[in-house]
Amino acid sequence: MKRRTRKAVILVVCTVVIAALPVAGSLHYTRQQVMQTSQARLDEAATLVAQRVETVLLTVEAALADNVFVARHGCSEALIRRFRDRTFSIPAVQGLGYVTKDGKLACTSYGMVDPPVPARLEPMTTPNGSIVWFLPPAETAYAPGVTIIALHRMRNDNWLGAAFAPESLTDGFDLDGFGNHGYLRVELAGLTLATIGTPHPVAGERLGATKEVGIYEAQVQVSADRAWAVEPWRQNALVIAGVGGAAGLTLALGAAHLGRKRLSLSAELREGLENREFEVWYQPLIDLQHDRCRGAEALIRWRHPERDLVPPDLFIALAEESGVIIPMTLWLMQEVGRQMGPLLATDPSLHIGVNLAPAHMTNREIVEDARRIAGEFGIRPHQILFELTERGLIDKPECREVIDELGRLGAEVAIDDFGTGYSSLAYIEKFKLDYLKIDKVFVGAIGRDAPAARLTQVVIDMAKSLGLKTIAEGVETEAQVHYLRERGVDYAQGYIFSRPLVADDFRTFVRIDREQGLAAAVAQQHLEHGTAAGPA
Ligand code: C2E
Ligand code: CA
Ligand code: CA
Repeated sequence: MKRRTRKAVILVVCTVVIAALPVAGSLHYTRQQVMQTSQARLDEAATLVAQRVETVLLTVEAALADNVFVARHGCSEALIRRFRDRTFSIPAVQGLGYVTKDGKLACTSYGMVDPPVPARLEPMTTPNGSIVWFLPPAETAYAPGVTIIALHRMRNDNWLGAAFAPESLTDGFDLDGFGNHGYLRVELAGLTLATIGTPHPVAGERLGATKEVGIYEAQVQVSADRAWAVEPWRQNALVIAGVGGAAGLTLALGAAHLGRKRLSLSAELREGLENREFEVWYQPLIDLQHDRCRGAEALIRWRHPERDLVPPDLFIALAEESGVIIPMTLWLMQEVGRQMGPLLATDPSLHIGVNLAPAHMTNREIVEDARRIAGEFGIRPHQILFELTERGLIDKPECREVIDELGRLGAEVAIDDFGTGYSSLAYIEKFKLDYLKIDKVFVGAIGRDAPAARLTQVVIDMAKSLGLKTIAEGVETEAQVHYLRERGVDYAQGYIFSRPLVADDFRTFVRIDREQGLAAAVAQQHLEHGTAAGPA
């Protein structure tokens, strides 16, 4: 080959390679992206079902524990009535029954079983060490249509049983959108409790996600066809190839831009902190049993120079992600000390709630900061109520140590948004907590025909069984106040009493509450803010 021709060939090859590289690269990249997105969808589905399964198992376990006391004396009209009542009020449970130690079903929520029938129960232990046993679906003897039975052995060796449907474990899960071979399986101690769909027959063709269920030795598996996972990519491959390098470049630029934007937002947060752009608002906390204001929850707001007042929902997640939450909380505690110190010092019955992030729980500094700030402003440590979501209760020794130390300091600890994190009772019990804040969704469900309305009662019962004081969040109506008060919930917070207030307004609220009573404070506050009238 002539030298010149060789040169030309090399040039062409190089050009083709250079042109093809971005095309191949972007094809490969987008395929991986699509696979990752599909994998993430499977992971998310498995996580959601696992949370659901834990809630159901927990609810069943709670229903059994809840009846032990009454059931100890054997079958009676009272027990049947209670069974019936519990069956109606606890969504997952379809029926309750009493099985004698010789294995005869003696009564159920339907009535007496006369003569008692053999229950043919071959219990199988769940290795979480609890007293709950499960029966394989195929062996279920009584109640037709009921497929899973949880049994609880009482001290007198008789059994309490709760029946629940396998569908309750997978409620709300939809296989549509997972292709032809979408598949879901729920297992407990190696036993299949529920399945939906059929898996791809060839193992190598399946893409799957597995999620363990909290304290129960249960597992949720979700799988789909590999072909399903790459389908969106296949459909667009031509376009991707066409756009080639440009797509890759755009993606790369896009990612860089996004990264920079997030970075600059968190930089803006730090700057805002330095420039004192944040404010603390206070939402009154009401003692429901005595109609008194007992303090407030401190809620942060951002008075952004170019935007309106920014609510925390828009920046807390980013503050947590970027670590700014640590100096931000420190600033907030100091501000609370400065604004509320004198009031707290003169009225030891007032508490201020401070929200903590998961990052605080692996870092003992919060304990020292609280001690120092309390000392500096003459606040008694028990007047600080740290609020921590279930998400923050991580199973690490440091976390328990931080909670223990806060307790030793005298501060109080509440579990926030309770009921939304799907932590089990057994898990929560491991931590030294003082209060449980019942999440808004359960309060909002009161009086409605939603399944959550029945769960509200279960959540209150759970709090009671843990021996914790309760705070209901997001209380908006008179009917909710009535319901919560009747059921012995200790405290409440919500728009019916007051929205979050600036420091001066909160001090006025407390003053009127002390001088003229709660109703006057609530009415004055609604008048001032043009909101709905409060409770009479
Ligand atoms: P949260 O701790 O659950 O706070 C309660 C939220 O519910 C507040 O929203 C409050 O204004 C709102 N709320 C109160 N009563 C009612 C009601 O009757 N109905 C309804 N629909 N909502 C009500 P906000 O102030 O926007 O705070 C949102 C979340 O931001 C808080 O939820 C908390 O998780 C977080 N947050 C706020 N301040 C801080 C902070 O200083 N540190 C940390 N780590 N998180 C904070
Ligand atoms: Ca809170
Ligand atoms: Ca909350």
